[in-house]
Amino acid sequence: MTPEEFRRYGYQTIDWIADYLARPERYPVLPSVKPGQLTDALPARGPEFGEPMDAILADFERLIVPAMTHWNHPGFMAYFANSSSEPGILGELLAAALNGNGMVWKSGPAVVELEQVTLRWLRQWTGLPEDWFGTIYDTASVGSMHAVAAAREAADPDSRTRGTPPGLVVYASEQAHSSVEKGTIAVGIGQDNFRKVPVDAEFRMNPDALAALIERDLAAGLRPCCVAATVGTTSTTSVDPVPAIADICERYKLWLHVDAAYAGSLMLAPEFRWAFAGCDRADSLVMNPHKWLMTPMDCSAFFTRRPEILRNAFSLIPPYLRTPDHPRALNLMDYGVPLGRRFRALKLWFIMRTYGREGLAEILREHVRLAQDLALEIDADPRFERTAPTPFSAICFRYKGTDDENRQIQERVNATGEVFISGTELHGRFSLRIAIGNRGTGSEHVARVWELIREAV
Ligand code: PLP
Repeated sequence: MTPEEFRRYGYQTIDWIADYLARPERYPVLPSVKPGQLTDALPARGPEFGEPMDAILADFERLIVPAMTHWNHPGFMAYFANSSSEPGILGELLAAALNGNGMVWKSGPAVVELEQVTLRWLRQWTGLPEDWFGTIYDTASVGSMHAVAAAREAADPDSRTRGTPPGLVVYASEQAHSSVEKGTIAVGIGQDNFRKVPVDAEFRMNPDALAALIERDLAAGLRPCCVAATVGTTSTTSVDPVPAIADICERYKLWLHVDAAYAGSLMLAPEFRWAFAGCDRADSLVMNPHKWLMTPMDCSAFFTRRPEILRNAFSLIPPYLRTPDHPRALNLMDYGVPLGRRFRALKLWFIMRTYGREGLAEILREHVRLAQDLALEIDADPRFERTAPTPFSAICFRYKGTDDENRQIQERVNATGEVFISGTELHGRFSLRIAIGNRGTGSEHVARVWELIREAV
C-alpha cells in the first residue's frame, strides 16, 4: 500500500467508524447469523495473491459487520455492557501504527512509562494506595491468575523451581468469577484445592464460613494460601465484606486478592467508595477499564502492594533479553507470563485525558441511576420480583412464573434486535439480568427494554 493509498483508505475507514459510532443502532444488537454461516461465506483457502483494499472493505461491510454482536449498541444490556469511545479508538489506531512492544524498557520506553503513568493516575482517581505497583494485562482472568501465582510464591518460594507443592488451597465465594478457579487450575494448585465459600442471602461471601473452611483445611494438614474477594460479582454485583476477609487473611497470613473487574471503575466516583472499604489492605486487585471506562478491548489494570513477590515468581532473563540495570528502567516482562505487550496504555491515556475523572464518573453515575430507576419499576409491577439487591448498574429479576417462561421472555426480547439482555441462575432458578454500562444507553433505551419485557409477558 502506498502512503497515498493508505491515506485514502484511512480517511474512508475513519468515516465509516464515525458513522458507525454516531448510530450503532442501525444494526441489530444481536446478529441473525447461524453458527458457521460466516465461515461458509468465506473462502476455504487464503488468497495466493494480494487483493484490492476496496474488495476487502466491501467484504468487511457485507460479511463481517452483519456477523457482529454490537457491544457499542445502546440496547446492549447483557453480561457487563460496555462501549468503546472515539479517543480510545484513536489511541488504539496509533498504538497499532507505532507497533510498540513493552517487553523491556529499552524495547519500548514510552510503552513502559506511559503504562506506569496512567496506572498512577488511576490509583489517584480510585483512592488505591499510591505506592502500589501496577501493570496492564489483557484481561482480569489473566490478572487473577497472576494473583494466584503470587500467592503460591508467597506461601512457598520453592514452588517456582520444584513445582506446586501438594496441599495449597485457594478460597473464593460461590459467586466469584470462574477465572479465579481457572487461575487455580493454571498454576497447578488444582480444582480439588479450590474452595467455594458459601454466601449470605445477598450473595456476599460469609466470612465465618471462610474461617471455618480455613480451620478445617489446616486441621487436615493443608496449606491455605489465597483468598479472592469480589467487589461486584458477575451475576448480581454483590460486594464481599472485604474488611472482615482482610482480618482473616491477616490472621492466617494469606494473600488477599480483590476481583473488582466490573465495579472497580466506580471508585472514580467518591460516593461509591464505600463498596471498596478494606481494599487498601489487599495484596492485589484487578479492575477492567475495558469493562466500564469506555476503553476498547482489551485493557485490565492489575495492582499489587508486593511486586517483589510477583517478580520472584516470574523473572527469568535469558541472555538475549539482558539490559543494563537502571533504577528507573522497568522491565515489565519480569512481572508476569507475557513477554510481548502491546501499547494498551496509549488508549487509556487518550480516554483519561479526554473525559477526565469527573467526566467518566458522571457516565457511571448515570448508568447506576438508570438501573436504580428500572429496579423501582420492576418492584412496582406485581408480576415480577427482583432476585438480588441492585447496588450498582445490573438488575436481576424474574417474571413470577416458570424458568421456561422467563427464558422465553428473554428470547422474545432479544429476537427484536433492539436490545440484548442476559440471564443467570440464582438460588437454583433462572433470573433475567439487565446490565447498563454502554455510554449511549439512556432512559429511552431502558424504558424500551422494560416495555419489550412486559409485551413478551
Ligand atoms: N471478574 C469478574 C467479577 C467479572 O465479571 C469478569 C467478567 O465479566 C471477569 C472477572 C473476567 O474478565 P475478563 O474478561 O477481563 O477476563
